Amino acid sequence: MRVAVISDIHANLHALEAVVEAIEAESPDAIWCLGDLVGYGPLPNDCCAWAAERTQICLAGNHDLGALDELDLGDFSPDAAEAAHWTRNELTADHRAFLESLDSSAESEGVAMFHASPRDPVWEYVLGEGAAYAAFQATSAPLVLVGHSHVALAFLSSGGAVEGTVTPGGTEIDVSEGRWLLNPGSVGQPRDGDPRAAYLVLDLDAKRALFRRVEYPLERTQEEIRERGLPEPLAARLAHGL
Ligand code: ZN
Repeated sequence: MRVAVISDIHANLHALEAVVEAIEAESPDAIWCLGDLVGYGPLPNDCCAWAAERTQICLAGNHDLGALDELDLGDFSPDAAEAAHWTRNELTADHRAFLESLDSSAESEGVAMFHASPRDPVWEYVLGEGAAYAAFQATSAPLVLVGHSHVALAFLSSGGAVEGTVTPGGTEIDVSEGRWLLNPGSVGQPRDGDPRAAYLVLDLDAKRALFRRVEYPLERTQEEIRERGLPEPLAARLAHGL
């Protein structure tokens, strides 16, 4: 079974469309999304419509919960809180209902999935080896998938030690030995210095993980962010992948 894993779309439809085109060329058996469909970006309803139709598993992220008024926006950065308020008003009833139906964790094919981490599926960032160690302790699955940090990463737990690294586009990993925690990176707002949209292809039979990046017309998303009066830094950062 081959699965395309995506995360953190953030209402960036042009990034999502580029990823979908690339994913379809790989003909995966399923698409799993690790959450944050909305927030920051200009087209939340379109991204929800796609996810409701096309994903087999879809998690809720902190920005989805923020847009549903299920999290205190005082815990968000000012720009993120402003975008969450805007998204609340923008979401149609059916897309709001779709987001309300989602959980922040799931398990399928022996793979454990969390928007953020096993310890805290909504908020904890797994960016270093300490947090990754705790994540491995908190779950027994051999393969763990997380999103949330917008940084494509791979951590290996083997013989009691945990080591990990940022995974640039093109990285391919053999996950047959040890336990692995993988973050596909972000579709709609990458923060690892590469502005291209990120996704992951997981071959569960061959035990291989393929980290991919694809270009998209980010100027169009920037224009849409500005047209809607969302905070300017949310547009500017897309050009830098930060
Ligand atoms: Zn996010």
